[in-house]
Amino acid sequence: MSQSERTTREEDENAAEERYRAVVIFRNDDPEPGHRDELRRAVSELFIEHEIPITDAVIPTQDGESIEETEFCRELRQRRNEHPELVEYALHGYRHEPRASGFGRGGQTTEFAGLPYDEQRVRIAEGTRILAESLESAPRTFVPPYATYDETTVRALSDSGIDVISGSDWFTRGYFGETGVFETDGVLHVPTTHGFVRDWETIEFHDERDLRARFDDSYGSGGLYVQLLHYWTFNTKERFEQLRSFLEYIIGHDDLLYATVGEFSTLYRSGRLERVADGWLYRPSDETDPSSITSEGRRGESKKNGNKN
Ligand SMILES: [Zn+2]
Repeated sequence: MSQSERTTREEDENAAEERYRAVVIFRNDDPEPGHRDELRRAVSELFIEHEIPITDAVIPTQDGESIEETEFCRELRQRRNEHPELVEYALHGYRHEPRASGFGRGGQTTEFAGLPYDEQRVRIAEGTRILAESLESAPRTFVPPYATYDETTVRALSDSGIDVISGSDWFTRGYFGETGVFETDGVLHVPTTHGFVRDWETIEFHDERDLRARFDDSYGSGGLYVQLLHYWTFNTKERFEQLRSFLEYIIGHDDLLYATVGEFSTLYRSGRLERVADGWLYRPSDETDPSSITSEGRRGESKKNGNKN
């Protein structure tokens, strides 16, 4: 099989398929105005410095008020204008407050799951409007607070024109019986597969060796590695350096395709990014491809594309 693909590559260098060992996505939850702003900027800078794309899941309200017209939004716009290939802003719920009754028999923490359809639609619509106006582009990815949602959320998103949801695989395993990428009601689910925090009571991190071993497992099996982080947890020098060191560890691996959640979804849905037996097959778009948002998010490509600015 790989022989014939190599032949294809020789036939047309420009439209050649590329092979990647694994796909890596980072999702940073909870950016909001006035909460550890310096740390938020430092974490953002770290990803930009290493040219790693990231999806920031932004909370659209604070104490029930829209975040529009804040210095925070101006900063976020500026960052994306400067590094459009490295930044996606996703919608992170609406209030990001747990409902008193919780969700399901276990009373899981949730904002969305269990709410009536109309109420979910309203929250999604209002959150979308706020981010679209304040960040000058409508979010295409929804990140449910506490990783919990239900089939009604998926329908409400689908009817709202949002076609990607990113929770966490511990939730999708229990609720949908799925862990990888899957689709329901026209919405692609791209759950996180790994996190930094081992204990949310104490915000204790996983051991660095464990994090690396888990990444290596995913790399070895040609997987989709979706790392969740919360910028505000890197609140000591030691923790911040652990993030830096982990990013540098990942970068040390060859043949990785980096993407935001939204970009991954576009490539995956179009069939241009496909999981194969030993990794991923990527078909770069050519200039005639109108759907191309393409490979700009990939590390190393951004420099080549830099002269278009
Ligand atoms: Zn959150």
